[in-house]
Amino acid sequence: MSSSRGQLFVVSAPSGAGKSTLLTALMARHSTLRFSVSYTSRAPRAGDSEGVTYHFLSRERFDAMVAAEEFLENADVFGHGYGTRAADTDALLDGGHDVLLDIDVQGMRQVRSRARQPVTTIFILPPSRDTLEARLRGRGTDADDAIARRLATATAEMAAVPEYDYVVLNDQVSGAVEQLASIVTAARASRAAMRQASVDVARTFGVALEPAAWDRARALHERGWR
Ligand code: 5GP
Repeated sequence: MSSSRGQLFVVSAPSGAGKSTLLTALMARHSTLRFSVSYTSRAPRAGDSEGVTYHFLSRERFDAMVAAEEFLENADVFGHGYGTRAADTDALLDGGHDVLLDIDVQGMRQVRSRARQPVTTIFILPPSRDTLEARLRGRGTDADDAIARRLATATAEMAAVPEYDYVVLNDQVSGAVEQLASIVTAARASRAAMRQASVDVARTFGVALEPAAWDRARALHERGWR
């Protein structure tokens, strides 16, 4: 089934939730996962690296990409443009990779409505408000008013938690990584992923898997039959 298209994994978290540490560890656990490097008009910070953490570009260039409809999704976050380039994710998915998108709530909604393959959405929660604030201060990159703004945004973002498929509480890194890795494993074995791979199943085993059969199964599940 290696020739089947990959899946999208959207991970959102308020800044300071400890997301980057978890995602780095997750990628080490699942070697077929690839990180989608976003485009942003914000300036690089300490620790950023062009083409690795983001592709950095001017606001003018970013807006031109929006106008040319190059983005699978894009949003303004903290006053800067951020976007996922469709051609980048398509190339990875076509290559059979599963793709990790580290994007905000607005982006998750767009991906969910536009994607042409299964999407699994995960929200990472910090253990407490105090921890969140301490982590934001600990970074030492933001002034007090910026920290206050990030905290307010974090609180607002948490209101979208019910829209996600999974919620991971980052109270202990190893436990949170374990949960994330399990979610990826489960998504790969899901009916949605299998349906996508059905052509390969049919070719490999000579079994006819009709699209209508998958639709009937989904209808039963939606009625609560499990
Ligand atoms: P930071 O500037 O701190 O790296 O990221 C700020 C926020 O922008 C984070 O919540 C991050 O998830 C979000 N973000 C990063 N890249 C994208 C993107 O391509 N699209 C969207 N919608 N949000 C993004």
